[in-house]
Amino acid sequence: MPVLAPKKPTNKNYFFYLIIIALLIAFFAMMLPGTENQAEEITLNTFIEEVQSGTIKNISVVDNRLNLEMMDGSRQFTYKEPGASVYEILERAGVKESIISTVPINIENTEGSKFWTDLLIGLVPFLLIIAFFVFMMRSAQNSNNQAMSFGKSRAKAYNKEKEKNTFEDVAGVPEAKAELEEIVDFLKNPKKYRSMGAKIPKGVMLIGAPGTGKTLLARAVAGEADVPFFSISGSEFVEMFVGVGASRVRDLFNKAKRNAPCIIFVDEIDAVGRHRGAGMGGGHDEREQTLNQILTEMDGFEQGTNIIVMAATNRPDILDPALLRPGRFDRRVVVDMPDLDARKKILKVHSRNKPLAKTIDLEKIARSTPGFTGADIENLMNEAAILAAKKDKKTVGQKEIEESIEKVLMGPERKSKVLSKKEKRITAYHEVGHAVVGHLLPGCDPIHKISIVSRGMALGVTWFLPEEDKHLHSRSKFEDELCSLLGGYTAEEIFFGEMTTGASNDLQKAKKIALNMVTKYGMSDLGPITFGSDNDEIFLGKDLGHVKNYSESVASKIDDLAKNIIDRAHKRTRDLIEKNKNLVDKIATDLIKKETFTAEEFKKYFKNIKVPKKSQV
Ligand code: ADP
Ligand code: MG
Ligand code: ZN
Repeated sequence: MPVLAPKKPTNKNYFFYLIIIALLIAFFAMMLPGTENQAEEITLNTFIEEVQSGTIKNISVVDNRLNLEMMDGSRQFTYKEPGASVYEILERAGVKESIISTVPINIENTEGSKFWTDLLIGLVPFLLIIAFFVFMMRSAQNSNNQAMSFGKSRAKAYNKEKEKNTFEDVAGVPEAKAELEEIVDFLKNPKKYRSMGAKIPKGVMLIGAPGTGKTLLARAVAGEADVPFFSISGSEFVEMFVGVGASRVRDLFNKAKRNAPCIIFVDEIDAVGRHRGAGMGGGHDEREQTLNQILTEMDGFEQGTNIIVMAATNRPDILDPALLRPGRFDRRVVVDMPDLDARKKILKVHSRNKPLAKTIDLEKIARSTPGFTGADIENLMNEAAILAAKKDKKTVGQKEIEESIEKVLMGPERKSKVLSKKEKRITAYHEVGHAVVGHLLPGCDPIHKISIVSRGMALGVTWFLPEEDKHLHSRSKFEDELCSLLGGYTAEEIFFGEMTTGASNDLQKAKKIALNMVTKYGMSDLGPITFGSDNDEIFLGKDLGHVKNYSESVASKIDDLAKNIIDRAHKRTRDLIEKNKNLVDKIATDLIKKETFTAEEFKKYFKNIKVPKKSQV
């Protein structure tokens, strides 16, 4: 049946066509007997009379139906009783032989056409049933396919022009770029290296904090080398069906082999690449299988396959050592947090497609964004562009960017949050306490801004900004920072006689610094020794059991020492604020009126006071 084999039908079409055809057949089957629709029905008696009067030109007999063609060209029909022939009927009616023989009678054999009609009518339900089954089978097969494609990798291949990234798009990571340029060269000229007997590296591990541009770099390598790029995220290997991860890996590598030379990029490989056997409550079998499969596939490359596997992680400390072994991800490329210069370059990249005002000072922006990653900077420039568009400006100005920095750092201003008069007063003294102490101590960063407009969760903010990125922290710097952190708390204590909950966040930070000084940096009487986990973050399973690798008595000593450090800082802070009580009072009173001070406005209060020069470490 041709209906069942149209070219590449979707199963929906199949079903649809079958139903239409079945309906058509049924329709014609019903219409078939009534084709001569202009004919007039007459009684058998009239027919007999007409035969006798000789007005009939000819008679054709179809089953029991007599179709009559009249002398005047019109048509009539009638029915005879079954079993009796036309002759018999006419004879019995007394029509003479001689008259009957003048009318030609054709008996049409209807057996055949009747058979087909019956067959077609009988077939309709069957067709419907068959169609139904085909439909069912198709959908069952489909869901089967879906189950099968589970094991297929969901790798996305990018090699379309518009999605292509190049090294131009990545700024401020010169070392990483230099190293990856080598990889690009391997991919472009494999022969050059092979003729020297050099083995082309199989795996490159990109290591860096989130948002520093690892994914971007990997794509840029593919773009520069002009090879296909298969990207898959580690978490996609981990699904609820056991074995899926491993088969996805197999599929991914097979796909890649067909497209060599190419790059496979496994993003966030720590999702599968953790220390095997480190899971809590029984290892995650699935993850282990997946990891094993990756290792097997990488080992299985013959020399000359020309596939480079890149992977990215921000937790190299938790990776399985087997991954980092020579022959696997033995090339490690560290993607640093951007420093001042790098931030300036990244700012340039992300202002390429934005109309910037002529007056813009990228240097200053880079200076006010320590700790921003490339992703943060992208976000910042986007916020600034949105802000400028909202204000119906033609270009993005310095002001929009500075506003966006604050927004990104501290959340949007919440001018609608109304503080009571007393709350506002307390907040002002609290913030000025931070600021004055910070300004008068050499170890604290310079003040950038003070504000008692609430933002996000905070009621007020004192914003310190380092002049340049710092890599080393001295003990005296920590001690000074502790003082400025406690400045808010102490100011409340001195001016209002009691503290509020507003200082709780400051106290937490202070405690963390003090504890780190004792347990991490050896800056206490316990001497040059560290305590506790070597990892900052606790990774479930690996560290949970033994974070505390020291005894209870040492623990209480650590607590005592940390408390001493904080007590000392508190005393220094108190002395400093008492000594400058009038100044704090004056600045706070003005801040309540003005709500925000810039660094310049703040510094004016210190004309007659000796302010120490800021220390560099
Ligand atoms: P990661 O993978 O390291 O978490 P991404 O590569 O996904 O970070 O970076 C996110 C976005 O941040 C990128 O798409 C890019 O726009 C921006 N970005 C990050 N680092 C840089 C950089 N060094 N230069 C330019 N843009 C960057
Ligand atoms: Mg990424
Ligand atoms: Zn505070």
